[in-house]
Amino acid sequence: MPTLLFATNNAHKLQEVREILGNDFRINSLRDINLDVDIPETQETIQGNAIQKARFIYDRTGENCFADDTGLEIESLDGRPGVYSARYAGEGCSFDDNIDKILGELSGITERKACFRCVICLIMDGKELLFEGRIDGIITEKRSGSDGFGYDPVFLPDGHRQTFAEMPPYLKNGISHRGRAVEKMRKYLAGTE
Ligand code: IMP
Repeated sequence: MPTLLFATNNAHKLQEVREILGNDFRINSLRDINLDVDIPETQETIQGNAIQKARFIYDRTGENCFADDTGLEIESLDGRPGVYSARYAGEGCSFDDNIDKILGELSGITERKACFRCVICLIMDGKELLFEGRIDGIITEKRSGSDGFGYDPVFLPDGHRQTFAEMPPYLKNGISHRGRAVEKMRKYLAGTE
């Protein structure tokens, strides 16, 4: 089974991607190869961050690898938090702090359309490829559910009655921004075999 290194320190993302690709690929984490690093993400776009993260790990390991970067874009907030989704409430903030901040900013606002956008950068034998996935939905008034991570408890995807945090993982992975981007990468990799 081919092996790919996932350039992330986020255990939730690792689990999601393993659930999606696990039958076709062995997905190694940074911990699996004993690489303990803070991966920089200092670019102005999610695409830039995905490339930066993948290059950072490829340069250190020489292994075929991929990295993802995600932004939550809320229409009424002019696309915020966007590329700042991880640290929207400030450096070192928690997922809960970020949710509190967007719920506060959306207080009294009925127009709550949002989308998650994910870009994956894959580096195979030095060649870089990008895959993008998107899911549209709304930001709910309050949290529901305890699965997933990040903004999942307040993101209700269009056409569904459960937030990402209420859905079983296979359902989230089947429609999510990351699931869609990973699926595109899987198809590309299948074509190169
Ligand atoms: P990252 O830079 O790709 O790690 O993503 C930035 C932030 O977006 C994360 O810290 C989470 O708060 C949020 N995020 C990323 N993916 C998801 C997801 O699948 N569900 C909910 N929030 C997410």
